Amino acid sequence: MLEAFEDALDFSGQVVCVTGSGRGIGETVAASFAEAGAAVVVADVDVDAAEETAETIGSEYGTETLPVEVDVSDYDEARALVETAVAELGGLDVLVNNAGVAGARRFRESDPEDWDRKIGVSLYGTLNCTHAALPELVDRSGVVINYASSSYRGNDPGLAVYGAAKAANRSFTKTLATEVGGDGVRVNCVCPGTVHTPATEAFVEQYADELLDAYALDRIGDPADVASAVVFLASDAAEWITGETLHVDGGYLRR
Ligand code: ADP
Repeated sequence: MLEAFEDALDFSGQVVCVTGSGRGIGETVAASFAEAGAAVVVADVDVDAAEETAETIGSEYGTETLPVEVDVSDYDEARALVETAVAELGGLDVLVNNAGVAGARRFRESDPEDWDRKIGVSLYGTLNCTHAALPELVDRSGVVINYASSSYRGNDPGLAVYGAAKAANRSFTKTLATEVGGDGVRVNCVCPGTVHTPATEAFVEQYADELLDAYALDRIGDPADVASAVVFLASDAAEWITGETLHVDGGYLRR
């Protein structure tokens, strides 16, 4: 059984696209798939970060990596991303919709521009890339991994809009899974709690005590905690799991 599990985590010959993988959680997710043998598309709106990450993980794990500049909130750019991946790497097996824009702001102090940015990247980014990738994923019985966030429950003041987008991702995951299961495509979601990244550094420092109180396992997450869940859900070890949201949150207590 363990040998089969290990084989299932071997992504050799597969092409994996991770959006928002120039830095943060996405970077570690991309590196984990490279370590597992996949060719990895490092897609990010920050092309310098994408190029640097692609170079670093390519040389570390000896797999093919392809940096692509994309704004996932734009449908045409999402289509171009998929076209480039297929043209350069021959197809697409796994799409990880990791790109997101957080940033706490009380709803009364927010404005439509802020909503557009958060919903544009965190929700529309997921819809755009998934819609663009589906024909390729159907071709290869592929997998989509979406991202919710602990804030989808509506328990985090300041994250109303971000949380709403993440709740939508969770619902979208389930419905899409029912629509494309018959085509051999699985769709799952990870729901991370607070994770140490450059983007969360200041927030984590400011709220360190409250944060620790909120996690049953007495620590906040690392990008690798999320990456191992994503790789598992994308792998054949999860071949009978679809429409699911896996909470990767150290037992977040504000559920
Ligand atoms: P996290 O803590 O969730 O990892 P980060 O801000 O560290 O958040 O990383 C998010 C990544 O998503 C960054 O590399 C960022 O450039 C990327 N990103 C943000 N907006 C977009 C977008 N519109 N299209 C593609 N990538 C994006």
